[in-house]
Amino acid sequence: MITASGLTKTYGLYKALDHVSFGCGDGEIFGVIGHNGAGKTTMLKILSGLIDPTEGRLEIGGIDVLSDPDHLKRILGYLPEESRLYETMTVDEYLRFFGEIYALDRQTIERRKRELLESLSLDPDGKKMGEFSKGMKRKVAIARSLIHNPSVLIYDEPTSGLDPMTSRYIIDYLKDLRNEGKTIVLSAHNLYQVEEICNKVMILRRGKVVAMGNMHELREMFGSISYRISFHMPDISHLESCREYSFEGGLYHVSVPDIGEMNRCTEVIGRHGGRVERIESHYPTLEEMLIRIGK
Ligand code: ATP
Repeated sequence: MITASGLTKTYGLYKALDHVSFGCGDGEIFGVIGHNGAGKTTMLKILSGLIDPTEGRLEIGGIDVLSDPDHLKRILGYLPEESRLYETMTVDEYLRFFGEIYALDRQTIERRKRELLESLSLDPDGKKMGEFSKGMKRKVAIARSLIHNPSVLIYDEPTSGLDPMTSRYIIDYLKDLRNEGKTIVLSAHNLYQVEEICNKVMILRRGKVVAMGNMHELREMFGSISYRISFHMPDISHLESCREYSFEGGLYHVSVPDIGEMNRCTEVIGRHGGRVERIESHYPTLEEMLIRIGK
């Protein structure tokens, strides 16, 4: 369980975060999204204890992060946006090194290493990490964040710059981690992935929360459904006066904001010898929401 209240971070006179409050339940994936510079990384660094907020309170798993940062390290795994690995080390050496930093015994380190390499389908074959592809490096960074089996994961852009297959693998892996009961806070620019895996999403703009909730709540906040009618019509001029239309794939299409308009349009189509092929409801996507709030 994460509870943040009034988190504020100033750099000189600049407020990178401005009284941000939220809660995230155990075993949930919480997404933080926003345009470049909105404050996502600042938020995640505060959550992981890397930087202190200028103001505010933060409790993670019953630990007061600001007064007990050492305790936090034992339950938390952090994946930075860019993880620099030690290029001359092998994965074995690297994970062992971090296991030792977390004061794990040798047996536990070996077991965790085996489990992580297997679950992440990593087959390093004794190579040094400098020889790895970007996708393999990201997987190693994820393995490192998990070596001490933390219950809370703070992941900054876990799939950024990865090819679609590796990206998909990691998204599915995060779902598995949630199923194991881990709590994950992540930021991402791939909003379709955020929509797919997050239980709750926070939208930041210039350090402030502009919206927060599950996808259903966000859609309600950003305006409800619109409807897209696809149809044939012998003479489209009958519709021209009331609606903008497009022609694509052998069909005309119009978008209407509500059921009343939909009925009006389908009535006009029918009256003038047209035929409705399908009507699709369209919810605003996270991408549309971000575009709507502006920079
Ligand atoms: P991106 O999507 O580009 O990674 P972000 O949402 O993660 O952006 P942050 O990195 O949190 O944004 O930065 C928020 C704001 O705070 C930016 O305007 C940034 O320039 C500023 N900022 C971040 N770190 C510092 C710092 N150490 N000193 C001064 N300003 C900073």
